[in-house]
Amino acid sequence: MYLKRLEIQGFKSFAQKTVLDFEPGITAVVGPNGSGKSNVADSLRWVMGEQSLKLLRGKKSEDVIFAGSDRKSKLSFAEVSLTFDNKDHKIPSDYSEVVVTRRLYRNGESEYLLNNNRARLLDVVDMLLSCGFGATNYAVIGQGLIDQMIMAGPAEIKNLVEEASGVKPYYLKREKTIRKLEQTSENLSRVSELLNEIEPRLRSLKRQAKRMEEREVIAAQLASLQMEYFGNQSYLLETEIKAVSERLELKRVILVKLETEISSFQKTLEKEEQQTGQSNSFLEELEKKFKVLEDKKLSLLEKLAEIKGKLKAEVPITRNFNEFRQKFEDIINLLRPENIDEIKTKLKNLVLSYSTSKNDDLLGQKKTLDTELESTVKEIAEYNITRNKLLAEEKQKKSFLTEEEKKFRSKTFELTKLKDEQNLVLVEKAKLDTRLESLEKEIKEAFGHFPETLKNYKKAQVAAELPNQISKLKHQLELAGGVDEATMMEYRETQERFDYLTNQSKDLEGGVTDLRSVIEELDQIIKKQFDEAFGKISKKFEEYFRILFNGGRAQMTLLRAQANGEEEEVLPEEDEEPVVDGLKKKKGTMQIVGIEIKATPPGKKLATIAALSGGERALTAIALLCSMLACYPSPFVVLDEVDAALDEANSIRFAKILGTLAHQTQFITITHNRETMRQAHTLYGVTMNDEGVSKILSVKLEKAEAIAQ
Ligand code: ATP
Repeated sequence: MYLKRLEIQGFKSFAQKTVLDFEPGITAVVGPNGSGKSNVADSLRWVMGEQSLKLLRGKKSEDVIFAGSDRKSKLSFAEVSLTFDNKDHKIPSDYSEVVVTRRLYRNGESEYLLNNNRARLLDVVDMLLSCGFGATNYAVIGQGLIDQMIMAGPAEIKNLVEEASGVKPYYLKREKTIRKLEQTSENLSRVSELLNEIEPRLRSLKRQAKRMEEREVIAAQLASLQMEYFGNQSYLLETEIKAVSERLELKRVILVKLETEISSFQKTLEKEEQQTGQSNSFLEELEKKFKVLEDKKLSLLEKLAEIKGKLKAEVPITRNFNEFRQKFEDIINLLRPENIDEIKTKLKNLVLSYSTSKNDDLLGQKKTLDTELESTVKEIAEYNITRNKLLAEEKQKKSFLTEEEKKFRSKTFELTKLKDEQNLVLVEKAKLDTRLESLEKEIKEAFGHFPETLKNYKKAQVAAELPNQISKLKHQLELAGGVDEATMMEYRETQERFDYLTNQSKDLEGGVTDLRSVIEELDQIIKKQFDEAFGKISKKFEEYFRILFNGGRAQMTLLRAQANGEEEEVLPEEDEEPVVDGLKKKKGTMQIVGIEIKATPPGKKLATIAALSGGERALTAIALLCSMLACYPSPFVVLDEVDAALDEANSIRFAKILGTLAHQTQFITITHNRETMRQAHTLYGVTMNDEGVSKILSVKLEKAEAIAQ
């Protein structure tokens, strides 16, 4: 990888598009004072992303744009493109040429392009860093700045060595890691503080929660036992209620049957009573009629007796009247409804056998009366028959009714008894219902609701000591106190937060350990690389110093900070220092604050570099630059009149060294020095025309020697 081309347009004195092609090796840019040579170096700095206005020799950004002259007006933008040959792909890109472009407009707009694609400054810097070049302080050594390399102080020299050794990225990484470590440690201490704050509260909450958990265990045991107890109680009650209900139902059925029977008895009795009433009135009627007949019979008998008396007086009855009456009564007594006619005839014959025919009227009257009497007696007999029949019926009926009434009374008694019993059972059931109701209330009070699962516990038998156990557990619960849901909630939340913070703390501790080991690893790498670089560069520096000064002695020494802030010289190989802030600081690395250069030109006394002449300082700085380039070659270096202060002999020695280093580093050197020009493989001449515009003249290599002469 090397610089292939530089295209400048509108940049400082290069108003027109100017192209400089480079080859590996040394390219010398020559020309009169003020022609614009340093502007070439500036353009290289600028295109590579330089932001320092001081290094760009300007006050404002737009100072790099062609400002115009008496004869040419100013331009609106500046543009510089730098082409890298990337056939070796040292720049990590598929392109064999990589072009970096920077453009700035007067209105302040600016842009970077990488192979014509818009890019950020960061992309350009990264690209240059990736090929081992870029933000090095010695990539472009500005005019009059060579001795700054050693005059800037030990810290700056150390910085240059670090850049050369390639440990800078490790430093950046270390810085980043330290910042991360600080952040992580800060987070860790914040988390630890929080944990310390939470811990006592959590302990107290834990104690409370433990008590509540124990209480919950008791409550669970109690609930389980109560479930068994209540299950048993409700089972027993329900069984009793069921039995009572069945008894009630049975009684109800009997009651209904009894009531039906009683009602039927009632109906029968009523009917019978009605019929009896009718019979009685009929009998009464019959009795009345019977009495009338009896009265009629008596009157007939009286009449007959009267007639018989008359007959007796006039016509005495022949045979004895008493005999007749006896016979008459005997016949009458034989009277029956079925023999009425026979009796009638017998009576007639009797009367005829005892009567005389002297008084026919009386006899006729007697006969009529006899007939009437006969019919009356007959009627009486008939009535008697009916009456007797009725009375017999009545008697029969009466005994039936008595029987029915007995039954009716017995059933009514049975009904009353049954109703009493039913009432007793109802009372019994009501009591059981009340007990079940109060048991359900008790269950609801115990569980806060009526548990569905209670039916699983309905058993006929439970342990006898169950009620005892329940009251013991209730007592224990009372002693344990109530459950504070808010405390439990706070405990759970606090525990959750504590666990979260503990995990965070562990993660952060792990992070701190990891970051410390990363830093230690980086320290080891840095120490190793820096020690190696310092060893090589200081050795080479002493060598180049002797070459450039043709003798003399120079030395690079390490400076480290003391506890009092003063600097102290140290040797690179020293033992480990005590642990500071968790990181091992090692002598020769972490505490090294700079590199001091002591130079003694030939025949002189060892003195500080401040005591050297300008030329000596330039030579010492060149020795340092060359020693770094020899040990850690840079892809290219721009040197702007670094040889300005050298005398001829020193110029020759410098040119020789440059020639040697040019095998591994491409040099673009702006010079007035013939020896340097002589070493160049390409020579560019810069001139400025009357318009104040720089122009480039390409000079053939053969002519370079002549120009140098
Ligand atoms: P020397 O040999 O004396 O060091 P040089 O060749 O290196 O000279 P430069 O410093 O490159 O000269 O160029 C300086 C010239 O460039 C000056 O004449 C200055 O006026 C001109 N110049 C600088 N900035 C601009 C600008 N923005 N526009 C136009 N001309 C500029």
